Amino acid sequence: MLGIYIHVPFCVKRCGYCAFCSSVASASEISRYSAALIRNIRAAGGRGLCADTVYFGGGTPSLLSGRDFSAILSALRESFDISPGAEITVEANPETVDFSKLAEYKSAGANRISFGVQSGIDKELSALGRVHDFKKAAEAVSAARSAGITNISCDLMLGIPRQTLPSLAESIDSVCSLGMTHLSAYMLKIEEGTAFDCPEVRALAPDDDTVADMYLYAVKALSERGFKQYEISNFSRPGFESRHNLKYWTGEPYLGFGPSAHSFFGGKRFFVPPDIKAFIESPLQETALEDASPDPLEEYILLGLRLSGGISLEKLSSLGGSKERFLKDAEPFVSAGMMKLSGDSAALTTKGFLVSNGVIFALIDSQSEI
Ligand code: SF4
Repeated sequence: MLGIYIHVPFCVKRCGYCAFCSSVASASEISRYSAALIRNIRAAGGRGLCADTVYFGGGTPSLLSGRDFSAILSALRESFDISPGAEITVEANPETVDFSKLAEYKSAGANRISFGVQSGIDKELSALGRVHDFKKAAEAVSAARSAGITNISCDLMLGIPRQTLPSLAESIDSVCSLGMTHLSAYMLKIEEGTAFDCPEVRALAPDDDTVADMYLYAVKALSERGFKQYEISNFSRPGFESRHNLKYWTGEPYLGFGPSAHSFFGGKRFFVPPDIKAFIESPLQETALEDASPDPLEEYILLGLRLSGGISLEKLSSLGGSKERFLKDAEPFVSAGMMKLSGDSAALTTKGFLVSNGVIFALIDSQSEI
């Protein structure tokens, strides 16, 4: 079934490390943006398409007023067949929500919230340029629960300037004390052109080996607290995996609305150019074709090996791949403890996740030579 992604490209302030499409905006600009979203949703709907996940991502979707959030969801329900048990997620910056806004989101239909907590240490939050402190994050999580949204995810960042293994351990303790159902742990990558892209910040960031140790520590510490890793960066209590994000890795279709949103529909990949002003002013969002016919075998290996469950070798064969060649190529990675083979499945180990790009591209290249 279809997933729907709604991009909200506004933030209270730009974080120093951020390379996403977002800007600081007034309340009236956000309302005009919401109207543009609704216009586009109505134009794309009416075809009897069924969706079972909706994801408001950003940017900071929690800058939407309860009224705008509710209007967007109503437009989605009028235009698409949104299943009664649909997972409806909203990403939130802890500083931008209170009980009454969260109660409005809940009454509009939100049943999952993903907080950008990032760290349990206030000095690290301020180094990242975040507007919240950990106390505020804890209050926001508690307010969400009081509002009836109990499926709660938190983001945690690894590799923050001046972060150490002991400070990460403290962060994991603090964040886990919030009682969430899901956690995403991302390694900070300093992107070209961001405020962090300077020698001073790079000098304060932990080196690659330390970040690798942090990742291995986080996987172990989260597992000991009952969080099962199901993807390179994602961990959940049993049954609380992100149903929407799983669509990206399992090749299910999704439609994206808003500048820089991506879609995978009818076997093609599309994106909306990252121009907020043009999106608000155009009658309909411009959509560019990213790939008219993505290679199903390549995509299956590329996306499937991000998952802890890995890929099925039978399915690889059914997509035109060579199981024998794959097993031969996987052998050195298995010997190095980066991959594991079990029955029909091949998957990366935690150690393999650390070097996933190299391993995955080597395996894809070799299949495409056949
Ligand atoms: S809140 Fe998120 S999207 Fe906004 S600037 Fe910070 S990292 Fe980027």
